[in-house]
Amino acid sequence: MPQGKPAGVRCIQLDEENRCRVFGKPERPAFCGGLQADAEMCGDGREHAMQWLTSLESLTAPGFMDPGSRPG
Ligand code: SF4
Repeated sequence: MPQGKPAGVRCIQLDEENRCRVFGKPERPAFCGGLQADAEMCGDGREHAMQWLTSLESLTAPGFMDPGSRPG
């Protein structure tokens, strides 16, 4: 995706079985290759992983304000 993948948008590289079409190829974004999934992220399956990712996207979205933080 030339302009990057917006949060919440399905990557155009995913095939019908949710596998990355560019896995292992040089055109795969470096960010994707650097992401190290772990048990906390994956949980017991796709539903857990999607919830985890959705939560992460919300927490890192522009304009998100952590209720525990104070303006400097
Ligand atoms: S690893 Fe990256 S390029 Fe491949 S499907 Fe996922 S987001 Fe898309």
